Amino acid sequence: MKILVVNAGSSSLKYQLFDMETGDVLAKGICERIGIDGAITHKRPGKEKYYTEASLGDHKAAIELVLKILCDSQLGVISSVDEISAVGHRVAHGGELLRESSIIGEKELEYLESIVEINPLHGPPAISGIRACKSVMPNVTHVGVFDTSYYSTVEEKAYIYPIPYELYEKYKIRRYGFHGTSHRFVCAKAMEILGKKDAKVITCHLGNGSSITASIGGKAVDTSMGFTPQEGVPMGTRSGSVDPTVVTYIMKKEGLTADETEKLLNSKSGLLGVSGVSSDCRDVLEAQNAGNKRAGLAMDILVHYVKKIIGSYIAEMNGLDALVFTAGIGENDGVVREMLCKDLSYLGIEIDSEINLKSERGVQVEITKPGAKVRTFAIPTNEEYMIALDTYNLVK
Ligand code: ADP
Repeated sequence: MKILVVNAGSSSLKYQLFDMETGDVLAKGICERIGIDGAITHKRPGKEKYYTEASLGDHKAAIELVLKILCDSQLGVISSVDEISAVGHRVAHGGELLRESSIIGEKELEYLESIVEINPLHGPPAISGIRACKSVMPNVTHVGVFDTSYYSTVEEKAYIYPIPYELYEKYKIRRYGFHGTSHRFVCAKAMEILGKKDAKVITCHLGNGSSITASIGGKAVDTSMGFTPQEGVPMGTRSGSVDPTVVTYIMKKEGLTADETEKLLNSKSGLLGVSGVSSDCRDVLEAQNAGNKRAGLAMDILVHYVKKIIGSYIAEMNGLDALVFTAGIGENDGVVREMLCKDLSYLGIEIDSEINLKSERGVQVEITKPGAKVRTFAIPTNEEYMIALDTYNLVK
């Protein structure tokens, strides 16, 4: 069975075509500059990358081009669109009602439209992408896989903010959590290795956006992102959690509107804001090594907050079996993993420096020091495969 995975952004559309019998990716690529001019990059394993500019007025034009290329006699990997059994769509926010991966009909689309207000950035392009794919492939099942749905098992005490309860009732202001598909994937991988049904696992998705999730037996109990991806640990350009009064104080002192302040905390803070160098962890580490004090401070703050969250989740779960690092920084950066695991031996976390620093980039590796109570891993995430698998399980 062949499953197409689609991830629609405001001006981009990423795709991967999976053969579910083998788990192989047959082709993948990205349409960019949708609504501006347009271009597509198309890749097949072992073959040369194909790039062309093309007029892409909207998501519908983009998916039409993707299908044309997938079926092309030279560039393609299938002979007809009929070979695609289902499409899995990445959707960042499923709100309170879409609590698991679901087949998307008109009712679900209308619900997604009704929650655009709490998901203004990612909601509209995802909906537009699904509508476009449904119109071009009307006879195929379309499945939505939501970043938030992994957190449907989180208890009220962890998702209701201690603010007047009516605000939750009126506006659905609560913690939702994000990156759920990634956390679910790497947590399942760790559980497979541990072979323990009720394993307590902390997964650290550390990339440009970062979040940390605590799970027991593969079910989320808490996560660091909240109402939006802004809450939690410092990220590339996001501040993560700050005293809310800091926000209103900045607004008053700098004369900023709510939107401008949101932008400051979302796009000008985190590693970039503190270091003044870059939002990219590699650049910040390089600057730190070259003696830049603020770059060093930015890294220290990041490490400080991540360690605090890890400690709090161990307290919340009353223990820990495995600590997992994933995403751009977590999978690839042994130096940052080293900084994060330092001085956590009281909590049972100790890593083997040599294995950790020598480990190949993007490869699954256990970095536990022999005898340590908690097992520590770097596990490459694969959200697209998870989306394909959920889609497959719903339609097979
Ligand atoms: P996104 O959240 O946009 O998906 P990624 O998961 O790709 O981001 O993570 C981007 C971050 O990962 C950047 O800070 C980058 O410095 C870091 N990163 C990516 N590759 C490496 C690498 N090989 N070594 C160290 N850091 C890396």
